[in-house]
Amino acid sequence: MKMQNFTMHHHLACLLLFSGPLLAFAMNTPENFLQCLSLHSENATSISKLVYTPINSSYSSVLDITIQNLRFLTPSAPKPLLIVTPLHVSHIQAAIICSRQYGVQMRIRSGGHDYEGLSYLSKVPFVIVDLVNLRSIAVDVEDETAWVQSGATVGELYYRIAEKSKTLGFPAGVCPTVGVGGHFSGGGYGTMLRKYGLAIDNVIDAQLVDAQGRLLDRESMGEDLFWAIRGGGGGSFGVVVSWKVKLVPVPSTVTVFTLRRTLEQHATKLVHQWQLIGNELPNDLFMRVILQSYNSGPNGTRTMQASFNTLYLGGVNALLEVTRSSFPDLNVTRQDCTEMSWIESILYFAGFPIGEPLEVLLNRSSNTKLFFKHKSDYVKEPIPMSGLEGMWERFFEEDEGVAQMIWNHYGGKMAEISESALPFPHRAGVLYKIQHITAWTDGGNEVASKHVSWIRSFYSYMARYVSKSPREAYINYRDIDIGTNNMKGDTDYKRASAWGKKYFKNNFDRLVRVKTAVDPGNFFQHEQSIPPFSF
Ligand SMILES: Cc1cc2nc3c(=O)[nH]c(=O)nc-3n(C[C@H](O)[C@H](O)[C@H](O)COP(=O)(O)OP(=O)(O)OC[C@H]3O[C@@H](n4cnc5c(N)ncnc54)[C@H](O)[C@@H]3O)c2cc1C
Repeated sequence: MKMQNFTMHHHLACLLLFSGPLLAFAMNTPENFLQCLSLHSENATSISKLVYTPINSSYSSVLDITIQNLRFLTPSAPKPLLIVTPLHVSHIQAAIICSRQYGVQMRIRSGGHDYEGLSYLSKVPFVIVDLVNLRSIAVDVEDETAWVQSGATVGELYYRIAEKSKTLGFPAGVCPTVGVGGHFSGGGYGTMLRKYGLAIDNVIDAQLVDAQGRLLDRESMGEDLFWAIRGGGGGSFGVVVSWKVKLVPVPSTVTVFTLRRTLEQHATKLVHQWQLIGNELPNDLFMRVILQSYNSGPNGTRTMQASFNTLYLGGVNALLEVTRSSFPDLNVTRQDCTEMSWIESILYFAGFPIGEPLEVLLNRSSNTKLFFKHKSDYVKEPIPMSGLEGMWERFFEEDEGVAQMIWNHYGGKMAEISESALPFPHRAGVLYKIQHITAWTDGGNEVASKHVSWIRSFYSYMARYVSKSPREAYINYRDIDIGTNNMKGDTDYKRASAWGKKYFKNNFDRLVRVKTAVDPGNFFQHEQSIPPFSF
């Protein structure tokens, strides 16, 4: 029976795919598409209010509001034929059915933080399903679980948990405006990853609309698909409507500090040591290093600054014992530390001043939008001092304040979970992850290409010090330099595995098998979506 169903869906998918280009032409009149949406939505009268076409005065603001990377917020960037902002599952189902009928591509957007803009850009005619209205959060303190819809941000999730409990939290991203939908799809790490792993390690159920428009939960989707959506990347398997998460215990008092050291204050030696201590630190300690360069003296001498940005799940006394025994040279003092609640530490790591009202977590759009290009690396062997010095030299060649690196230890819980338990394979053996950053505030294409070239050449310098064969990368730090799909509709496993093995290692093959079973017609596709085997 199951097999029959599968074959039928397969045929349906092929038929729709072949009829695509003809109907796409008719799509030039969005009214047809709107009619189709109304026809397939349960609440037909309301759908037109949830659809924005270019003639609608709010179209641009709805499109632009969550775009994070200013490189893609330009008049020449490709624009969607329309944006649907569903209120009900049936609106998502209708959008899928109609996109297939009219042969247009569909992009799914939750928080819009994709580094390469894949949730709102496409080279072929497309529509956006933007989940901004699907953002309810139901926290069950007794059960220590929550259902969170994909359109919510992690900041909203943290706020709603803290509203109900001071001793429960959730281990997801540092930046509060990140959308749950894309973030959970790719892993999701934050300040509690050494204690509790990633967001996906704590997801226990989900609701998804598949390419046939069916609403599935963990039981009806089966363990293969449920495995794939927890780390296999967004936009490949369906629209995840909501996620059920297991909340985790947090102490009522946590402690934070940020210590800054320049080269003159022995930053190189400290950073070198930081690499060595990661695996011995207690899981309650998260200490990331943020590296950047700036002009230190009146003569414009360049230096590097290493910021040791720390959360300890406990009080200051215990933290001081830990730092004295495992990292004495950092010389952390009681004055450097501040005790606070877990939810206040979320604000602290997001860069808000101490005492800021918690409600800032409810702001969806960050006011610090930048132009940027980021990349990622995984380090498995400590980098020698000479290697660090080589990095600093290259930083000095880039403009002040543009380049940054963020390093965070793995180990702890991350090392206990097997590489294939979920599609996220960067587990035991990883000392730390690097995020390479270039971010700037203004300028056109020339400025952009200068910074992008810098980070590409920095990345090639780093090759000798980081994971090899494959050179691993974090899918939530989307980087299309490492490869893309052929977007002409024909799927090419070999081409896709070039980037796929970097993000997923051997899990890539299982992701392709799941994709082939659930979306053989490749309805959900983008530059780095999982391809089905050719049919
Ligand atoms: C300022 C900033 C800070 C960040 N901080 C962190 C951090 O601390 N930790 C970390 O792990 N990552 C971090 N990230 C990366 C972030 O996790 C990813 O960019 C993530 O994919 C964003 O999710 P989104 O919903 O906001 O993005 P979107 O751009 O909406 O989506 C990203 C991808 O997922 C797909 N997608 C979105 N919603 C769904 C859905 N409901 N169902 C299926 N597919 C979907 C999209 O089509 C797209 O392919 C940060 C990013 C930025 C810009």
